[in-house]
Amino acid sequence: MALIVQKYGGTSVGTIERIQAVAGKIKTKAERGDQIVVVVSAMSGETNRLIGLADEIEEAPSPREMDVLVSTGEQVTIALLCMALHKVGCQARSYTGGQVQILTDKAHSKARIKDINGARVKADLDSGHVVVIAGFQGVDDHGNITTLGRGGSDTTAVAMAAALKADECQIYTDVDGVYTTDPRIEPKARRLDRITFEEMLEMASLGSKVLQIRAVEFAGKYNVPLRVLSSFEEGEGTLITFEEDNVEAAKISGIAFNRDEAKLTVLGVPDQPGVAHKILGPISDANIEVDMIVQNIAADEATTDFTFTVHQNDFTQAKEILQGVAESLKAQDVLNDDSVVKISLVGVGMRSHAGIASEMFEALAKEGINIRMISTSEIKISVVIDEKYLELGVRTLHEAFGLESEGVA
Ligand code: ASP
Ligand code: MG
Repeated sequence: MALIVQKYGGTSVGTIERIQAVAGKIKTKAERGDQIVVVVSAMSGETNRLIGLADEIEEAPSPREMDVLVSTGEQVTIALLCMALHKVGCQARSYTGGQVQILTDKAHSKARIKDINGARVKADLDSGHVVVIAGFQGVDDHGNITTLGRGGSDTTAVAMAAALKADECQIYTDVDGVYTTDPRIEPKARRLDRITFEEMLEMASLGSKVLQIRAVEFAGKYNVPLRVLSSFEEGEGTLITFEEDNVEAAKISGIAFNRDEAKLTVLGVPDQPGVAHKILGPISDANIEVDMIVQNIAADEATTDFTFTVHQNDFTQAKEILQGVAESLKAQDVLNDDSVVKISLVGVGMRSHAGIASEMFEALAKEGINIRMISTSEIKISVVIDEKYLELGVRTLHEAFGLESEGVA
């Protein structure tokens, strides 16, 4: 007998029919003898609707009351799902986060889980119930309702799975797994059977928004096997797990990309200690996050060029800050370009395969795609290229690394 935590997102419980379909699925599993804990999101659109209501009263409502408000979406779903389960003859009981005792810190709207008391849930499971828990919410030490941030039901599910030492945490969503890249860009993208936590974090932070990043971090930390699968189609989904050294890993697991990059260059800055700090200090003081950084060696032994990327939303502000910095540093010029994108190859296989970067550059060169910046980490190589080449770049690399086939690239 296995203990499984299942999470159903907003679209999976978006209508009464869908809630009933989910109930049917759960019933089948329960009849096989598994113990099942279900974590649900609010019905799709509901959280946004609630936020909209608050917005009509006050632009900056009390964070405490905001959490009281937005946590109601999930409370509706747990009750409806339990009713649907009863209807099909399945014993089930619902709990809010506070009732379970999902204890969090008191950071309203972005609370972190500190502790979970699984006793009540365990007792219900042992007496043959399916336990249905409201995602996204908890309580602080004083019993105030808190929420875990948008998409936080994923984290609730993983945390419950960790607390109950579940055999697996299954995240049911509207996609059937994690893909080698975005199928809207490369129709030959393939669903991965497995991916490691590390790779998933790289893919997720680069825009493959399948799972809340915090949930993946949490699952990695507490060693909870995590599976992403579709609530609409049958299938095995993608298992996110630890690296297995006995498996001959593919060189590359996936290709992530980020359209929201913008590039800034200060030309001809003095090649002296402290210059990088003088350029990036004011940027970070303005709370602008810097992604890639490249500084050239000085060609004329006196001045150098300094390039970095920021999120497109911060582009205008960063540009203004840099103008001031460039003047005080007596730099030659500032160049800006917000029509760039970042493409990244991700794979733990890079650790044991040499020459991946040059293979990547060769493939891009063959298509005449100019690489503007490069950065690498142990399991990732990223390049910044012109926006107009995004699709060609992704497809070219997908093919070059044999990602569409089942075999090892
Ligand atoms: N209902 C919340 C949201 O829309 C939490 C979740 O769905 O995971 O962000
Ligand atoms: Mg979600």
